Amino acid sequence: MANRWGIPIEVETLVINRDRKCVYCGVTFTKSNESRKSKQTWEHIINDIRINGPENIALCCCSCNASKGAKKLEDWLKSKYCLTKGIAFGIMAPVVKKYLENENYK
Ligand SMILES: [Zn+2]
Repeated sequence: MANRWGIPIEVETLVINRDRKCVYCGVTFTKSNESRKSKQTWEHIINDIRINGPENIALCCCSCNASKGAKKLEDWLKSKYCLTKGIAFGIMAPVVKKYLENENYK
C-alpha cells in the first residue's frame, strides 16, 4: 500500500508524526488555506523517488520545497535562499542532519 506520491503508508504515518515542522527551515506548518508558503509538502531528501524509507522521506514547507527543487541538498544549502533564511546544519531536523553527517558535511 502506498499513498498517491508512492510513499508506503507506514512511512507516511511515521513521518507525519515525526516532522511537525519543516525539516529544513523549522517553520510550523499551516493549513493550506492560511498560507501556501508554510504548507507541508512531501520531500525526498535525496532526489530519488525509489528511496522511500523514513530516512529519505520528510515533510518540508512549500517554500523550501520550491526553492530546493531538484538540487542536491549540499548544493541547495549554499543557495541564496538558504543563506538569506539562515538555513544551515545547526537548525535542521535530525533526519536531515543524519543524512548530511553520512555525507561528511558540516
Ligand atoms: Zn521550510
